[in-house]
Amino acid sequence: LVEARGVSKSYGPARVLNNISLGVRKSEVTCIIGPSGSGKSTLLRSLAFLEEYDGGEVLIEGELLGYVDRDGVRVRAPLAEINRVRRHVGMVFQQFNLWPHMTAAGNVAEALVRVKKLPRREARERALHMLDKVGLLEKADAYPIRLSGGQQQRVAIARALAMEPHIMLFDEPTSALDPELVGEVLQVMKTLAREGMTMVVVTHEMGFAAQVADRVVFIDKGEIAASGPPREIFHDPNNSRLQQFLQNYL
Ligand code: ATP
Ligand code: MG
Repeated sequence: LVEARGVSKSYGPARVLNNISLGVRKSEVTCIIGPSGSGKSTLLRSLAFLEEYDGGEVLIEGELLGYVDRDGVRVRAPLAEINRVRRHVGMVFQQFNLWPHMTAAGNVAEALVRVKKLPRREARERALHMLDKVGLLEKADAYPIRLSGGQQQRVAIARALAMEPHIMLFDEPTSALDPELVGEVLQVMKTLAREGMTMVVVTHEMGFAAQVADRVVFIDKGEIAASGPPREIFHDPNNSRLQQFLQNYL
């Protein structure tokens, strides 16, 4: 569904991603783990075309949208093409980025009206349905300031889901939450995974990764240092960098 081939990215002299290749199949859950600053967010943004990269290529649903040719010249599809494909990619960030002046339902409905051109009434219907899915129907008319962090993040997930994405990308969706609120968000994500949603999740929740991921990718210093099913990754005594990293989570 999504494939990165040899993606590289530098900020000035600093190489942030070094020749990353990663394929995500339909209905698979891929968890990306790794130390702070290792390039996890940059990789996720590259998959969603929110980031220019300077080597390699990314395909979404078989469509090649951008690549760098051998002479180092960046070629990319027309913006309209990129936007069309990007519409199938849902993103949820650490910060929930809800519009403070809109209710929960308003936040979910807004893109349906603006991007999908749904009539208001229909957009609200769909929004309520999505809020129900994340267990927040009774908060539909509450403003974000009245919601807990966990509830806000569930609204953000509902907002992304309302656009009917083919794939969901999560960047540390629970890192900004108080510990007691992490569970409710992970629960929503588990349900999504069970329903067959294709997901790429950057997370420090090793329990979630172990339980839900089909594949865990360990990124260190901009490179994939290990990749495989969770039972292999979490019990690989041969990879010292990985072991050292995992020590911090035991
Ligand atoms: P964290 O776990 O802290 O979120 P990360 O693995 O997501 O870390 P990235 O945010 O991808 O790491 O950043 C990778 C590296 O790229 C870091 O060293 C960071 O300082 C650098 N970097 C990220 N964005 C920029 C930018 N806009 N300009 C310059 N350097 C950047
Ligand atoms: Mg990050």
